Amino acid sequence: MAAALPVFPLSSKVTALRGVGPAFAQAFEDAGITTLKELLWSLPYRYIDRGTLQKIGELDTRWSPDREPVTVLGTVKDLRSTTTRVQRMALTEVLLQDGTGTIRLIWFNQGYLAKALRPGDRILAFGPVAMGRGGLEMRGPAFENMGKAGDEENLWIRRFLPLYRKLGPITGRFRQRLVQEALARAADPGEWLPPDLARGYPDTLGALRLLHQPPDDSDAALLDAHATPAHQRLACEELFAFSLGVSLRRAGRLARRGQRVPTSPELRERLKGFLPFRLTGAQRTAFREIVEDLTSGRVMHRLLQGDVGSGKTLVAFLAMAMVAETGGQAALLVPTEVLARQHAATFRRILAGEAGRMELLLGPMKAAEKRAALSRIASGEAAYVVGTHALFQEAVAFHRLQLVVVDEQHRFGVRQREALKEKGLDPHWLVMSATPIPRSLALALFGDLEQSVLDELPPGRQPITSRLLEPDRAERAWELVERELQAGHQAFVISPAIDPQDETKVPLRDIQAMEGLLRAQFPDAAIAVVHGRLKADELASRMDTFVKGEARILLATTVVEVGVDVPNATVMVVDHAERFGLSQLHQLRGRVGRGSARSQFIMLSASENERLRVLTETQDGFRIAQKDLELRGPGEFFGTRQAGLPRFQAADLVRDRKLLLTCKDAAEKALARGLTDPQKDWLKQEQARLKLAEIS
Ligand code: ADP
Ligand code: MG
Repeated sequence: MAAALPVFPLSSKVTALRGVGPAFAQAFEDAGITTLKELLWSLPYRYIDRGTLQKIGELDTRWSPDREPVTVLGTVKDLRSTTTRVQRMALTEVLLQDGTGTIRLIWFNQGYLAKALRPGDRILAFGPVAMGRGGLEMRGPAFENMGKAGDEENLWIRRFLPLYRKLGPITGRFRQRLVQEALARAADPGEWLPPDLARGYPDTLGALRLLHQPPDDSDAALLDAHATPAHQRLACEELFAFSLGVSLRRAGRLARRGQRVPTSPELRERLKGFLPFRLTGAQRTAFREIVEDLTSGRVMHRLLQGDVGSGKTLVAFLAMAMVAETGGQAALLVPTEVLARQHAATFRRILAGEAGRMELLLGPMKAAEKRAALSRIASGEAAYVVGTHALFQEAVAFHRLQLVVVDEQHRFGVRQREALKEKGLDPHWLVMSATPIPRSLALALFGDLEQSVLDELPPGRQPITSRLLEPDRAERAWELVERELQAGHQAFVISPAIDPQDETKVPLRDIQAMEGLLRAQFPDAAIAVVHGRLKADELASRMDTFVKGEARILLATTVVEVGVDVPNATVMVVDHAERFGLSQLHQLRGRVGRGSARSQFIMLSASENERLRVLTETQDGFRIAQKDLELRGPGEFFGTRQAGLPRFQAADLVRDRKLLLTCKDAAEKALARGLTDPQKDWLKQEQARLKLAEIS
């Protein structure tokens, strides 16, 4: 029958499939699926291996201490929803029968289930089994509604049953049917991978078939781990398409004419005059690389990576000075106002008598003040501009913007760059990152930027002593703080939460409670308390009391995470350290150890001590980032920045990092040879899904 149906190219809309009307098309679109290709690339979230299906009557009726999940298939005999007496939670109970026995499935607070299930439905349920009061039960099992009895007959002609997530009104079962139809009707796209990459893998449709209809002899463990050759083929396709996008962008950028910044012996002398210190070797190398870019006539896109405290700001300043001292304008973009003010102060100090050439632009400014700032920026009188995202607003016109430095945040991404282009600006870009990341991830996150690495700390740094303390030994932490305060130093205390109920039910000491504790412990010390809910100017003025040394203790949420520089602060205590990522803690730690005195970093935590111990063992940001990445995966690791990562279905940026580099090389070769038609088609189709337009 399938042979009689028309064949569709992968770029066909899902509405070409039977049963996909406007409502379903919308639900698919909401999930990023508009074409057959996208439908087929949305892989099953799980496979049920018929061999592991258990008969209810044969389930171990003893309480299973390891709570190993089991899978059963049965018919709904009875369905009840009630409310628990004590906590008034909705309780849904299903009695499931399979001819050998009966088991109770129980869900809390999922009242909608009562409507989604009907007596007579066939349910595939998986979860750990326990002995309840009324016999065997599964609490909160994952399940799949297989519909009426008899429906599933043709499902089990194979050993593996692929399961798909429900998308709004589209059930997993229906999706499965659509996928089968799409597979039967999809036109072969032809081999588009270069032979070197494709070797040893099935072709595109072959791989998709293997994953949507795994043959009985598939390796269940590899399927579950997404590590079959078919998965690898698809991962390779994603990474190759992505790499092509990156390389094309890069080629486009290199072909553009960049603003050439002139250099001269006088300029070099002038820059030297600015230097408050002797540059480290790493700073010198990085700056030389930047100078080469700025004088090359191409558009610079460079990533400056360096551990906390490695001195990125000074390198950024020098780059800006290159431009600003030769008649251009340079802007430094930072994520927060606190940081913007701090950088502005640093720059003013360096510029000394000429501090008037520096302009600070923030979101909330008095109207008259802002007008004046805008006019100095427009006239070019402000050669150095420091600001938050306010810098990208419509009203900001530059006289001759030649360089943008982005601190810490890749959220100032392509959109802002596009906004600048619309204003007719095509400046050089320098992105600074304090989270050292492997090359493959930098590629995925930033596109193909040139990279400079500050792998050396300025001289004279004292190592930081890091400790991990159980909360019942917190007294020890306060003793250390007391000692530092006595010696005339200052202290940071970091609290993870503004409210006790903050996004978790685990009891958490909030910042108010910590403030009470600190005031009791240190009655004579002035304490500044800052968190993200303060108005910007209030936050800034409180921070300022700490920077000036009036406040001796800064109690803060992670607003201090990036960049705050107070060399007299020699001790930091992080409460509930388990709530933070390793890289984040490393960043926090970088706030101390900036002066010549020995510093202390203390984590208070009752759990996850295994993970946190890494920080007591090394101060190498690269190693910590790598560990963090392995533990949490790139999504968590990058936090808000993950929005900039391409949405790969099969590829995993941590696991497949070598493959990404291989694909990048292959992409460059393919571009040098000229793309084939299938490659061009493929790239066009992947544009949206892989966010190719958003690559730097
Ligand atoms: P990063 O932004 O990379 O974390 P910063 O630029 O804030 O680091 O520099 C950290 C500290 O080191 C600052 O106090 C800065 O003044 C100082 N510093 C920077 N470069 C040097 C240098 N070459 N020699 C001595 N101190 C330096
Ligand atoms: Mg910094």
